[in-house]
Amino acid sequence: MTDNANTPWYHQGLRFSCTGCGGCCTGGPGYTWVSVAEIEAMARHLNLTLDDFGKKYLRRIGDRYALLERSVTHDCIFLQGKQCTIYPVRPAQCQTFPFWPGVLHSPDSWKETARHCEGIHDEAPLISFEEIERQRQRQTVAEAD
Ligand code: SF4
Repeated sequence: MTDNANTPWYHQGLRFSCTGCGGCCTGGPGYTWVSVAEIEAMARHLNLTLDDFGKKYLRRIGDRYALLERSVTHDCIFLQGKQCTIYPVRPAQCQTFPFWPGVLHSPDSWKETARHCEGIHDEAPLISFEEIERQRQRQTVAEAD
């Protein structure tokens, strides 16, 4: 959504700073999609073979892979307490949140996300339009992988 034909509504930037609360790693059921390159990086980080990593942490959905979730809570399999246990090699989908195309679709979708992400608030640092676009494009590529 734009405020004129070519300008995204967030062209003046958006306020966000991740607190590490883990809120985006839990919630309802969903998919954290991972590419082969990301699977390789996570397996290497955990000192596991690809085969062992796949058996322990992945589910296959059609021709793609997603991380497993815990049953009942739907927490990401790598969330322990409120900490991501693979933070340095977390997938692009995690790194780019909340600058996902769906979240950036409109002011309303941004506000709705803010209800679940405590890093989005009026006192948070301003993230530039250029940085938001960089993250959005990364996520767009990750979604297409
Ligand atoms: S919900 Fe927001 S503040 Fe919390 S860990 Fe995720 S991105 Fe960071």
